[in-house]
Parts: sequence; C-alpha cells; structure tokens
Amino acid sequence: MTIFLLSISMIVFASFFYLKGQLSVWILIPFNAFWMGILHELEHDLIHWMYFRKNKIIQDIMLFSVWILRPLTINPWLRRELHFHHHKYSGTLHDVEERGVTNGEKWSLKRLFGTPDLIFGGIMRAKILVKDIRNEVRNGNLSKEQALRFKKIKTISMVPFGLIAIQFGIYI
Ligand SMILES: [Zn+2]
Repeated sequence: MTIFLLSISMIVFASFFYLKGQLSVWILIPFNAFWMGILHELEHDLIHWMYFRKNKIIQDIMLFSVWILRPLTINPWLRRELHFHHHKYSGTLHDVEERGVTNGEKWSLKRLFGTPDLIFGGIMRAKILVKDIRNEVRNGNLSKEQALRFKKIKTISMVPFGLIAIQFGIYI
C-alpha cells in the first residue's frame, strides 16, 4: 500500500507542476514512466493475489487505479487469464500476453513502434497473430474454447467502459 500510494503521489505531484507550466515535459515523461513502471509491477503482483488477498475491495481499488493511470494497457481483471496462461505456456505461439507486447519477435522498426503502443502494435500484427492461433488450435496445442476466450478478451480488454460491466458481473 505504501508503494502504491507513494507512486500515485509522485505521478500526481509531477503532473500538477507540469500542468502549471513549472515542469518540463522532458522531465515529466521519464519521471512518470518510472513510477508507472513500479505500478505495472504492482499490478502483476495483484494479478497473482499477492496483496490484500482477503480484501477484494482494496485489491480492486488498487487494480482500478493502476489501470486508470495507464489507460492504454489492458484491463487487469481480464489480463489475469492471459497472464496465468503465460505462466503455463511461456514462449509458445499461443502465449498471447507476451505476444501482445511483441515479445519473441525480431527487432525491427515495426516492433519499435508496436511495443509501446498496444493498439497500434495489435492492429499491425493482428493478421499473423490470428493465423498463429488458428494453427495452434488446428495442431491441437490450444483448445478452440480457449482461443475463443482469448478473442473475447482481446476484443474488450482495451475498452475502458468494459470495466463497469465486468465489475458489475463480479459483484452480482
Ligand atoms: Zn506472473
């Protein structure tokens, strides 16, 4: 909780001075990127239910906060399934979480632009990813049901409004 609150405070603090015109964007971006990197690791641990295991509300508030501060990342509740799949099948063609951030690809200009922007990277590589998943299903390495779940997750995971629906579904 201390790391969580400290990181958010630092981001809010730097952004406030940037908005007042008292901090250069060249300082703001690496500064905030550092603290958001910490939040990204915190999100990973929360996905594994490492903190506040018995307090789902606190956990959800933390997940929501780390997501909303990094709105171009995927919904962390949906990421949980992709992430557990990654731990089970790391390095395979159907490790969709890692492939979603271009891991396993040769370095190129395309990868350089696709890595920091999940939407752009996803659109650029959609054809090859879909082809690989279809082949994995055909070769018996991935069930058709799992492939369809990935398709649903990938479709809605970047939509901020999806959060409301998912949380509503969890609590009822
Ligand atoms: Zn993990």
